[in-house]
Amino acid sequence: MDENGKKMDVMSLLPSELEELCREMGQPSYRAKQIFTFLSRGVPIEEMTTLPKDFRRSLANVCEDRLPRVEEKQVSALDGTVKYLFRLFDGEYIESVFMRYEHGNTLCISSEVGCPMGCAFCASTLGGKVRPLLPSEMLGQIIATERDIGERVSGVVMMGIGEPLDNYDNVIRFLKLVNHKDGLGIGYRHISLSTCGVVPGIKRLAEEELPITLSISLHAVTDEKRSALMPVNRKWNIDTLLTACADYYRKTSRRISFEYTLLAGENDGEDEARALASLLKRYMRGMPIHVNLIRVNEVKERAFVRGDAESVRRFAEVLSSHGVNATVRRRLGSDIDGACGQLRRRAKGGER
Ligand code: SAH
Repeated sequence: MDENGKKMDVMSLLPSELEELCREMGQPSYRAKQIFTFLSRGVPIEEMTTLPKDFRRSLANVCEDRLPRVEEKQVSALDGTVKYLFRLFDGEYIESVFMRYEHGNTLCISSEVGCPMGCAFCASTLGGKVRPLLPSEMLGQIIATERDIGERVSGVVMMGIGEPLDNYDNVIRFLKLVNHKDGLGIGYRHISLSTCGVVPGIKRLAEEELPITLSISLHAVTDEKRSALMPVNRKWNIDTLLTACADYYRKTSRRISFEYTLLAGENDGEDEARALASLLKRYMRGMPIHVNLIRVNEVKERAFVRGDAESVRRFAEVLSSHGVNATVRRRLGSDIDGACGQLRRRAKGGER
């Protein structure tokens, strides 16, 4: 319990911090590992049977160990993709998407309730940012999903609602929690973090020595167009962003992925593909580059149109003919699709 009488967010604590808590409560420090492992499996404190009963009771009195609650769930009949709407302790909603790949199960998680970044094509940002997610709430999306589905999640992508680098400290703590061997033990190499281009965050991340994959949402090749689509570009323009990306690679030797959402008639022409290839080759000279192409998911409140399959195939071809690796993102769960953020909007009554 803290000085305000509020319970501690125990699932946001690292094992070393749990050790300290155990010591303060007169328990041996090896209890910390037991607690941490139980928490990562979603076991409530009262049911941590290897702990003495009295200790469980006093721990439950000072600690909060809640998980996000499954409010709604859509299961794809095509490929088993599952989209979750989770309800948090304060009545807010977030979304996560469970995807099955040959190399394992991946969960796409949210990092904030809403988003402050204002991208013109995105549903998650329509009502602005409500609050950051706690480390325990990012972790909780994975634990609640594993419990619900009964399968292990082996990879995480931070591409749900929110801008991870706008919630920097909580995200870094989450990454350490999710990677810890006594907990979920998800390897950093199986974790991707996507940003719209918060440059100071990219610079800090480069110093953390976490070998995760960084994805950059680029979506346009000129500042004029990118600023119109992504207000963040007015603060950190393409030159600043790509310079930071090159520095990130020099520091970490981790290949960066560039996300490019195709908006029909806006940014999906062959000229743009050529300009994208030369822009990336110029800034990332001699470095491995990868581009992920995705056709926009149409959002009711937004005017952008999804092009046909041919348009994305052509775009990819131009990139590869200029020596830039591109993957057209496979569309999982197309029968339950709806752009990210739409379930939450409906639940909040924002969509009518
Ligand atoms: N804030 C982070 C992560 C969340 S968005 C970021 O911007 O990277 C995850 C990805 O989905 C981003 O590349 C984002 O630009 C893209 N995206 C958002 N709305 C979309 C839509 N309607 N259709 C296709 N992609 C979209």
